[in-house]
Amino acid sequence: MKDKILITNIQRFSLHDGPGIRTTVFCKGCSLRCPWCANPENLEPQPEQYVKGGKQGTYGRFVTCEELYGEVIKDALFYRQRGQGTGLEALPGGVTWSGGEALLQADRLEPLFQKLREAGVHQCVETCLFVPPDKLAIAMEYLDLFYVDIKILDKERCKSILHGELELYLTNVKALFVAQKPVVFRVPVIGGYTDGEENVEAIIDLIRQHRPLKVELIKEHNLGQSKYISLGKKPPELHTVTDEFMESYKEKILDRPDIPTEVCKV
Ligand code: SF4
Repeated sequence: MKDKILITNIQRFSLHDGPGIRTTVFCKGCSLRCPWCANPENLEPQPEQYVKGGKQGTYGRFVTCEELYGEVIKDALFYRQRGQGTGLEALPGGVTWSGGEALLQADRLEPLFQKLREAGVHQCVETCLFVPPDKLAIAMEYLDLFYVDIKILDKERCKSILHGELELYLTNVKALFVAQKPVVFRVPVIGGYTDGEENVEAIIDLIRQHRPLKVELIKEHNLGQSKYISLGKKPPELHTVTDEFMESYKEKILDRPDIPTEVCKV
């Protein structure tokens, strides 16, 4: 299994994982443990048994680069369509690497990143960016657009709540902007976890230090409940923030009007 990629799903015709029509590949394995995670089946870096509706199954399967290339290139015709307008909307569709944290498998994905680049397929990644810098460097060589989460920017809370090292994240954010890579920041706004005043101010500071193409403030709901249950885990109970809070958050960021900011609900 050394060179194979562990995935849980290939989602075709996706309209919410980047520009245009995309094929999203969900890779399995993540170093964080966000209490609000909507994809609990993508956390452990090995296949897992589940029980759903009395039936057993497995989350995760190993695929070769060739198999995965064959799957995603089937949708190549759709990737060429571009939306109206300028900026992100005008970009073509393509492949989005998601998870879990796809970049943890960047060394195994590298031949595929390269092959898709040579085929002219636009590639995005949705990443928490808590990954070794050498794996990020592989992605930076081939991928076209980075959707980067901003979650908790206090070192202690980052460690205790997310199980992540904040310094690693900040080093990786800096590397992306120094290399002038196109970045969209995604901010999950979760009551009791990411919506505290100090965290909001720190997030706005980080956004203003850089030049992202866009900021998406994500109002999360209790997603992935059935997947938690299928794994024998208790689903998280989240406190959703109000629409008014989301709008005032957006207004604060828009104090710097050159950063387009949108409130999104998932
Ligand atoms: S980074 Fe994403 S996949 Fe990983 S635990 Fe957090 S929400 Fe889940």
